[in-house]
Amino acid sequence: MQTNLSEVPALSDDHIYFIPLGGTGEIGMNLNVYQLNNSLIAVDLGMTFADESLPGIDLLVPDPEYLVKNKKKLLGLLITHAHEDHIGAIPYIWPELQCPIYATPFAGELISQKCNEFSNIENIPLNIVSNSKPIKLGPFEISYIPITHSIPEARSLQIKTHLGTLVHTGDWKLDKDPLIGPKTKEKTFRTIGKKGVIAVIGDSTNAPQEGWSGSELTVKKTFLELFQNKKGTIAVTHFSSNIARLVSIISSAHSVNREVVLVGRSLKKYFNAAKKTGVIKDLRVLSEEEGKNLHPDQIILVCTGCQGEPRAAMSKLAGEYHPCLSLESGDTVIFSSKIIPGNEKPIAVLKNKLNQKGIKIIDENFKGIHVSGHPHKDEIKELYSWLKPKAVIPVHGENRHLQSHSNIALDAGIQTSPIIKNGDILKIAPGKVEVVCSIQSGKLAVDGSRLLKVNHPSIKRRNKLKENGIVLVAMAITKTGRLLGEVSITGHGIFDSEDETLLINKARILAMRIINEDKKLSIFCAQNTKEKIRLALKKFFKDHYNKKPRIEVQLILTKHTHI
Ligand SMILES: [Zn+2]
Ligand SMILES: [Zn+2]
Repeated sequence: MQTNLSEVPALSDDHIYFIPLGGTGEIGMNLNVYQLNNSLIAVDLGMTFADESLPGIDLLVPDPEYLVKNKKKLLGLLITHAHEDHIGAIPYIWPELQCPIYATPFAGELISQKCNEFSNIENIPLNIVSNSKPIKLGPFEISYIPITHSIPEARSLQIKTHLGTLVHTGDWKLDKDPLIGPKTKEKTFRTIGKKGVIAVIGDSTNAPQEGWSGSELTVKKTFLELFQNKKGTIAVTHFSSNIARLVSIISSAHSVNREVVLVGRSLKKYFNAAKKTGVIKDLRVLSEEEGKNLHPDQIILVCTGCQGEPRAAMSKLAGEYHPCLSLESGDTVIFSSKIIPGNEKPIAVLKNKLNQKGIKIIDENFKGIHVSGHPHKDEIKELYSWLKPKAVIPVHGENRHLQSHSNIALDAGIQTSPIIKNGDILKIAPGKVEVVCSIQSGKLAVDGSRLLKVNHPSIKRRNKLKENGIVLVAMAITKTGRLLGEVSITGHGIFDSEDETLLINKARILAMRIINEDKKLSIFCAQNTKEKIRLALKKFFKDHYNKKPRIEVQLILTKHTHI
């Protein structure tokens, strides 16, 4: 049972609590909170994409109500890395929190760029963390520990307290050849483990997968093999934030005398942030304008849109509406990515378009063309053998991922590994690791410049309009019920074009008959007559189309009793 925030029992001062507010029981929208001695720190503030059940909504962010209520005690927001599911909600929610933000140079650059697009955000207190020197925030002492992932500068957080040390892994994998940035230092994690870890709060995304996730070096070798002796344009699409992947493509392209063109806004954004913060050196890439005059055998297009996003570069090329670049029969498109669950349909649409044009497709079924950024089973076991935690709290995953993660931890001999959900308040120490209560949590929809609860009446109404359409009825009438002029009826999303005029006339006659009858019987009353018309038209459309459009009746009452 969820407890209303105003009724949350007082939490003990000398206990460490972990409170996930987003990303536990779901993929995306990560927001985690640690609480000790009446002080709070938050880890990550991400967003997720809305599905078609929320018309007009693209993005969802976690409901920050608990943090907003406790904002005076919130000492900082610590960002583990720059993926959108970890930083994407900052511009929407930080204005309500106003706390200092901590992030590495690369993540900090992307956060700044993002916030600059919002006129209501000025001077965010962004603290750049470029080493593992501890950050002291009240009773917490946090160190940023480098770990490999699929984006530069991913960090695990070592959180020391007087009750023991926690490790918040962030998103991670163990890549022996990450190509960009340092390898994960086994020694560092073993040292943390030797001093004692009371709990690891860890990434569950790939826990159901056997073995290891694989290395970026494998993908680089695959690109080298694929690019050799290929004729025609090669287009590669991958997750834009994976800078190591991009660098592999660029160096492999140059080694077969092809030039790389970056196509799509988000690729350029991450590439420029990586250059600006020194993650990569100045690698040679061409603009779209420069690339358009090159021979197809001399070019590799790196494109956004590996998930079939209709406005991204790959869809524009497939649909032949890119302003200056194109693909021809015999060209090759490489999807160096996996299908994120939920995106099967748009990706199928994209691949069908490419197929119809005679373009060869290489995708995740081709061995070595993609590796995931999240740890498989054996990597999780490896990390826990270094850290030897007393408890493992699975986060960052749907329930089935959390369950697999918990099983791995328990099989590895870890004492406890509870499956929790967003809103649970989990006591980690002292004593038994247990959920003490659950608070309200949820999602907010980004609707233009507002944040709305996902069950907000406006969104519900949009869904109804989307499914059934609307009929608008308007008329001017005197106080005694005499109709002035015509009854106006318009419909949206309901009529067939052939019978529109006929049905509108019939509906109009029906409405007029009700008004005239009420007047004749001297029982006209604006409210009642309006409702009678609404019900009559509801039945009328049910009889004709077996549909229930929304019916809005407006009576405009004039001051005159007789005209
Ligand atoms: Zn993530
Ligand atoms: Zn990530």
